[in-house]
Amino acid sequence: MGGAVTAPPTGTRANLVALPRLPGAAVDYPWGVVRALYLHVPFCPSVCPYCDFHKMLRNEGLVARYLDRLEREAESLAERYPGPLDTMYFGGGTPSHLRDDELERVVDVLARAFGFPARYETTLEADPLTFTPDRLRRFAGLGFDRLSIGLQSTQDDALRFLGRLHDGRRGMEALEWALDSGLRVNADVITAVPGQDARRDLHTVAATGVRHMSVYSLTVEPGTPFALRGVQVDPDREADDFEATVPVLAGYGLERYEVSNYAVPGEESRHNLGTWRGEPYLGLGPSASSYLPEGGPFGTRLRNPPIRAWLEGAPPERDPLDARGLVLERLLTGLRTREGVDVRALRHASGLTPGDVAPRWLADAVGHGLLAWEGARLRATDDGVARLDALLRAFVRSA
Ligand code: SF4
Repeated sequence: MGGAVTAPPTGTRANLVALPRLPGAAVDYPWGVVRALYLHVPFCPSVCPYCDFHKMLRNEGLVARYLDRLEREAESLAERYPGPLDTMYFGGGTPSHLRDDELERVVDVLARAFGFPARYETTLEADPLTFTPDRLRRFAGLGFDRLSIGLQSTQDDALRFLGRLHDGRRGMEALEWALDSGLRVNADVITAVPGQDARRDLHTVAATGVRHMSVYSLTVEPGTPFALRGVQVDPDREADDFEATVPVLAGYGLERYEVSNYAVPGEESRHNLGTWRGEPYLGLGPSASSYLPEGGPFGTRLRNPPIRAWLEGAPPERDPLDARGLVLERLLTGLRTREGVDVRALRHASGLTPGDVAPRWLADAVGHGLLAWEGARLRATDDGVARLDALLRAFVRSA
């Protein structure tokens, strides 16, 4: 839903308060047990010009073949990893663009394979134009307990620029419906859009009382229609908007817990936290990735092929991790989060520490106040978060 957006390289204040341990986090289970599942639904009502996700417009034949293949893939994965699952996340694409009967079939498939819903969190990404209060009740009746809405902006000009089909009024109406439905709700917002007043968007959305927001800067990815049209993002605006986000959202009780994610404490996305902590997860659907405890002591990253090859049963690409790769991955995701990286646990798992893999980078980053130790945890400081992309690029170069 969010498309090609990332946190910008500049910004301000990281809150370094430790996250409370969330109950049911899969890391408490022994290695070999997988408790999370990501399902990719690649169909969208329209194609946004900034998006570089694997997505397409739907047609009936393609959706039918997608559902058949999904069923076979779920059955085969469940033979090795039968669940039960703690979290499930339907992303895309636009999963709520599936019709009711199609969504019910997906739910049936997952229920047979792993059990449905997940024990702690079952999220559905949704476009504002794909639901009404009635349909939200249907989502809840199926077992979803969390809705992630691709709102992006409340301003008509910005939405038009982004190629979205909803306007600001309809987006806010959808958000209010979701908040009234009893589901947990996330709202996605994109900043640094030309002509947008990002602060106004942040205030307007947060003032609804939503308890989770994902805020990304517009990024022009190579090969997208925006890139072909020469759209550019003003770096000063990007930095200003990023800098404004923490204080504006803090005024509504939303604290940053990952570089682009803000929540009222306790409302963090358990599924995404597990991924950032390096916990294993299953991936279903075209282009979906997985991290599975197989193929070696440090597990294997897998990536499914795009839809045509996936429909024909082509296998995923497999990338077994070695100890170094594990350290690299844990830092690349963990340093994006407020809780940082548990280096003692990482050494226990891999036999290596960040200091073994990139000693000079680590010494420089700590020396310049970009990273800090808190007991056995390594975290990005406020300055480190503000320069996170550059910091992580330097890590990859030196590792
Ligand atoms: S709605 Fe679809 S095309 Fe638009 S950003 Fe989301 S995934 Fe991409």
